[in-house]
Amino acid sequence: MKCALVTGSSRGIGKAIAIQLAKDHNLHILINFSSNIEAAKETLNIIKENNGSGELINFNVGNSNAVNSAMTKWFEKNPKKHIEVLVNNAGITRDNLFPWVSEEDWDNVINISLKGMYNCTQAIIKKMLRNRYGRIINIASLSGLKGVPGQTNYSAAKGAMIASTKALSQEIAKRKITVNAIAPGFIHSDMTSDLDEEELKKMVPVNRFGTAEEVAHLASFLASDKASYITGEVININGGIYA
Ligand code: NAP
Repeated sequence: MKCALVTGSSRGIGKAIAIQLAKDHNLHILINFSSNIEAAKETLNIIKENNGSGELINFNVGNSNAVNSAMTKWFEKNPKKHIEVLVNNAGITRDNLFPWVSEEDWDNVINISLKGMYNCTQAIIKKMLRNRYGRIINIASLSGLKGVPGQTNYSAAKGAMIASTKALSQEIAKRKITVNAIAPGFIHSDMTSDLDEEELKKMVPVNRFGTAEEVAHLASFLASDKASYITGEVININGGIYA
């Protein structure tokens, strides 16, 4: 059985991606979350309502022991299942102007939004290489390309994620594994719910925030066979803000 692991799919963009991958590709979805089990169950319910299948898998992507232990147990229990698609989506922001960014906020953002990608990819890459097929999709950000004031920690994490995407894609392309990044601009989710949309949308040529579903359609395309010749790319989805 073919599976997809979507980190941080209890809410927001990850949730929409998990639902879309189940719909479009009939993948069994591993719904990862950090603490919000009720929201994770809701993602699973929606997938099941659409005749898909999935299961919850709880770990903090920033904790390598937790990731390894959960994934090792899962592989032991499911020897016939292959994770063909990995979406490194889990991420956090801790915004502040640089002089006031505490070491803790710097480290937490790097640990979850960047090292989480390392931890989760490490946990499955060898099996993907053996299987000679895979799709790795890293959810980066406009912040990692442009740099956003107040987000030096987050811009650093997402910028490094983009560079790592390009490097890894070249290492493993011959094994039919593609590695791409998606760089969303402003997308409706809990992460952006405190932002002043009326003011910020003036910066967006399309004149609105995007939806998680719009990002999910792009992720679904990158996860498909149709995207076999796209690797090492960073695809913007931002309403023209960075055109
Ligand atoms: P969100 O609404 O805040 O949802 C975050 C998701 O990540 C939740 O499912 C949360 O799980 C999970 N998560 C957080 N920390 C985690 C951890 N340590 N381990 C495992 N899961 C964790 O965020 P979002 O807006 O959907 O963002 C998703 C991704 O898109 C992030 O990487 C973000 O940086 C990126 N992005 C978002 C925007 C935007 O405008 N929204 C723009 C550019 C990029 P719980 O429910 O258990 O807390």
